[in-house]
Amino acid sequence: MTAEPHGGDLVDRVQEQPDDADDLPSIEIDRRTYLDLEMIAVGGYSPLEGFMTQDSFNRVVAEARLADGSPWGVPVTLTTDNAPSEEPHALTYDGEPVGRVDVEETWSKDAEAWSEGVYGTTELAHPGVEHVHGHGDHHVGGDVELYTSTPEAGYERLTTPKESRREFRERQWDSVVGFQTRNPPHRAHEYIQKTALENHDGLFVHPLVGTTKDSDVDAAVRMHAYEALLDEYYAGGRVALGTLKAPMRYAGPREALFHAVVRQNYGCTAFVVGRDHAGVGDYYGSYEAQDYLREFEDELDVDPLYFEYAFYCHSCDGMATAKTCPHPDDSHVNPSGTYIRRTAREGGDVSPKLMRPEVWEIVRSQLESQSEQEAGANARTGGATGGAS
Ligand SMILES: [Zn+2]
Repeated sequence: MTAEPHGGDLVDRVQEQPDDADDLPSIEIDRRTYLDLEMIAVGGYSPLEGFMTQDSFNRVVAEARLADGSPWGVPVTLTTDNAPSEEPHALTYDGEPVGRVDVEETWSKDAEAWSEGVYGTTELAHPGVEHVHGHGDHHVGGDVELYTSTPEAGYERLTTPKESRREFRERQWDSVVGFQTRNPPHRAHEYIQKTALENHDGLFVHPLVGTTKDSDVDAAVRMHAYEALLDEYYAGGRVALGTLKAPMRYAGPREALFHAVVRQNYGCTAFVVGRDHAGVGDYYGSYEAQDYLREFEDELDVDPLYFEYAFYCHSCDGMATAKTCPHPDDSHVNPSGTYIRRTAREGGDVSPKLMRPEVWEIVRSQLESQSEQEAGANARTGGATGGAS
């Protein structure tokens, strides 16, 4: 059996666009809010049926719980420059109605309390805090409907909980472990995924392809890299590749809880939480997200699987963690994003012990074309960004 949706029922707020959608007063939303709208409507955020009202918002910020007490990691909120009237509004994207919100309540934003509660910091250098400050002074709470999904980019798979649950049922998986990622896969990811797969029926690789930081690798590239990896190195009947069209929040511990709940809604019975899950910079301790999730795990229908930092060990001649390898740090190599980018820039090769050649080829050519584009842009601007060598 797949996991129960959080709160018991899978929310479905997808509707045909009514003829009078254009007649309502409207609220224009940005891409990130649109992604949240879609996630609510397809049930990815069950039991939410709309943007949070103040009771849930405040309780989530203060103690990571909805108004009814159930665990919930991060606010899902609509913010606007002016407080709209409390009546149904069309939600427009690029001026076109894509859904609707029945405005139930509006209240003023308290950016400091929101930042401190959810991100544990009020520093604007944190991308989550920056977002909190950047988008309107008023919260708008109320139930939603979705008429039109966000545009497909061509690499989406199993984007809704309905689709993933159907897939798991057809494959007769009783236990499914979900894996969140926003990076191209290297051997440490593979090691953790396959370790989890040893005692679960299926693996649901579920990259987040919503809005991420500019420095995260392009979603299409990550998907192609995963396809190449899964084709060559995984038992086909035991792994499904999906996409999560949700914005990345970089809320560390809070987002680990949120990610686990969302994967429960997608039908996963277990969820991998690694080192510095959903972290950014050095705002969170390496295992802070894991410790945080432990406080809530008894209340979830998804089992968090806690993994240590994995690396390649020359002495072990294989992937390992501190739990399995006795050798000193200088025997260990980790194919970090920084290491991968530097190697590509220097025209080097990443060892197949760190990254599969099929994956490396895709990542390398992407990074190469990216730096060619940057070089071209620098040439056109006279090297104004300092890349004139
Ligand atoms: Zn070792």
